[in-house]
Amino acid sequence: MSTLPLVHRDGPDAQGIAVLTLNSPPLNTLALPLRVALADALDEVERDPQVRAVILTGAGRGFCGGGEIREFGTPAMGHQPTPPQLCLRLENLDKPVVAALHGVALGGGLELAMACHARVAVADTQVGLPESQLGLLPGAGGTQRLPRLIAPDVALQWILQGRAHPAGTVRDTGLFDAVVEHPDALLPEARAVALRLAEKPAPTRTSARTAHLPNAPAFFAAARAAVKPPGQLSPLRCIDAVEAACTHPFAEGLAVEEKAFIELVHSEASAGLRHAFFAERAAAHIEPLPEGVRPRPIERAAVIGGGTMGCGIAICLLSAGLPVMLREQDDAALQRALGTVRSHFDGAVAKGRMKPEQALACQNALTGTLDDTALADADVLIEAVFEDMAVKEDVFRRLDAVARPGALLASNTSTLDLDRIAAFTRRPQDVVGLHFFSPAQVMPLLEVVKGRATSPEVLAAAMTLAKRIRKTGVVSGVCDGFIGNRMLEPYLRQAGFLLDEGALPQQVDRAMEAWGMAMGPFRMSDLAGHDVGAFIRRRRQAEHPELTFSRTAERVFESGRLGQKNGQGWYDHLPGEKRPRPSAEVQALIEDESARLGLTRRAISDEEIVSRLLLALVNEGAQVLDEGIAFQASDIDVVYLAGYGFPRWRGGPMFQADRMGLPGVLQAMRRWSHGPAYQDPGRFWRPAPLLERLAAQGRTLASLRTED
Ligand code: NAD
Repeated sequence: MSTLPLVHRDGPDAQGIAVLTLNSPPLNTLALPLRVALADALDEVERDPQVRAVILTGAGRGFCGGGEIREFGTPAMGHQPTPPQLCLRLENLDKPVVAALHGVALGGGLELAMACHARVAVADTQVGLPESQLGLLPGAGGTQRLPRLIAPDVALQWILQGRAHPAGTVRDTGLFDAVVEHPDALLPEARAVALRLAEKPAPTRTSARTAHLPNAPAFFAAARAAVKPPGQLSPLRCIDAVEAACTHPFAEGLAVEEKAFIELVHSEASAGLRHAFFAERAAAHIEPLPEGVRPRPIERAAVIGGGTMGCGIAICLLSAGLPVMLREQDDAALQRALGTVRSHFDGAVAKGRMKPEQALACQNALTGTLDDTALADADVLIEAVFEDMAVKEDVFRRLDAVARPGALLASNTSTLDLDRIAAFTRRPQDVVGLHFFSPAQVMPLLEVVKGRATSPEVLAAAMTLAKRIRKTGVVSGVCDGFIGNRMLEPYLRQAGFLLDEGALPQQVDRAMEAWGMAMGPFRMSDLAGHDVGAFIRRRRQAEHPELTFSRTAERVFESGRLGQKNGQGWYDHLPGEKRPRPSAEVQALIEDESARLGLTRRAISDEEIVSRLLLALVNEGAQVLDEGIAFQASDIDVVYLAGYGFPRWRGGPMFQADRMGLPGVLQAMRRWSHGPAYQDPGRFWRPAPLLERLAAQGRTLASLRTED
């Protein structure tokens, strides 16, 4: 911990320049104590007659990472000085202030810098206004000052996209007075700018500038029309505020911004997006790791099995700069796999996603082998062979014989027991699951499966690897389907029951997609393939005869409809058409199945569809949590956001349950438990004991980790 105060003051020097340094590690976020300290420091330099100009900079990793997100929507956010008040105080100081930026100047950090009278940045400083990614808008004057400093249309683009830009790449926008290449040049350059400003009679205030955009009405109308999905509140409010900057005096524009910020910060969507933001960080931060545990270093990888998954995994590893040794069982399969991986990189060059020299480096880092001893150098060996325990046993025994001591032995199995796989080796502590999703090079989710014996170092190394290959890693315990697919089963079973009772696949999908899911359950099943679905369903039914299923999925499969792969599944998929068409054949089959069950088909509302499918996820998720398969409720949310197309702005299934209130969840589940007897609805909707416990105690799912 630094012993310096929150805002550290140096000087004034002989030329009357004082330096104020924000000092609230790690990123100088603008929580209340820092705001108070900065306001005090500004009072001091204003009072000090020796000070002619001020440089404002940040200690540690950057200038300022922005507002304190945990304060958003809480009373602390309103405590004075609020971030917009602080920016006004800074701007209205009677001495010029130069912002000296390095590392990050994001969100509130950039807003602070824009309220200064000049800005100097190191070329690699990340600057931007990411608030829209949290369903908000920049609320400390950013929507008013950015369009006054750079072209208003570009300002709107920055605000809507929420991306960070290296200062060097946007040096010509007008945002900076100077951009320096080396951090050592930052303060000298800021000093030179400060001296120049000190010579002038009064500092130039950003608020005194005008934001001019020719043809503003047409521009903003087009921007509103382009908002997708239509009606999204945060982009619309961003547009309103930037328009106000172009058409109204500064103070009025600020009022528009403030009103919009308050509206957004209390919106459902922002709450969900902020939850998602923290949930992802919490998932990456694995606990409980014993003190001093360091992840094992990973520099070389091996992939065993070069089929669909093995090739995708190899692509991920190579793209992250790890050399990969690919092991196949015969030369034909090996050449096919090497060809697939190499041509992926050729394709990336052709699509302009990669520079030719980068692609070549990835291709050169790939080697193939048919010989186990070639795997001896690898720090991580990832198995992606057939989903068959006997094959896995053979592979893991052989890996155990050749892998160097301390190497990670990872399995990509989706359904087999990782603890049994680990037991085939003499080093179960080194065995971990790395459950990629297909296509592995595209899907962001990686379930990192912790076996009974998996050591903390190995788990930490696997999570570090996930980060390195740009995956969202979430730790899961061992169970059938791990977190994500295990919860998918009741979701799909419930979707099937809806068909029997009166819904059609297109209605269920439409309802779920309108609610925000990237894909409804039936389009998703068509994508995954009905053969895969039938294989899993039949195994599950054999192992758990008490599980009830709608027979529709089985009948669709038996009729030869395999999904997208043969153009027929729940839908008809016609070549060249993006949207699949509802199938009359499937409708007839569904209606026949209802008749066979003796059910009178009824109209089912979209609300019922969403409620039943969401609660099916929630109930199983609570069980997963209670069994310790997921470490915290938010990890389950991350799995669904990253791997299953759950709408980010809804935060995830467990977040939804907490928003609804657990007593409300239980009440809705009771309502659905009176369904047709063949579904055994009493068993299906038996609440997970955890839900009942928490509801009785007046607690939330999110409270579990912090209080237990
Ligand atoms: P696949 O059939 O496409 O590929 C398996 C490959 O392994 C084949 O190329 C085969 O030649 C090779 N192989 C078999 N035995 C081998 C051995 N002894 N040594 C070296 N290579 C061997 O299968 P896939 O879809 O890539 O699945 C692989 C694994 O990934 C399975 O465990 C599966 O459950 C899991 N998984 C699959 C998906 C998916 O959507 N396909 C998703 C997640 C996990």
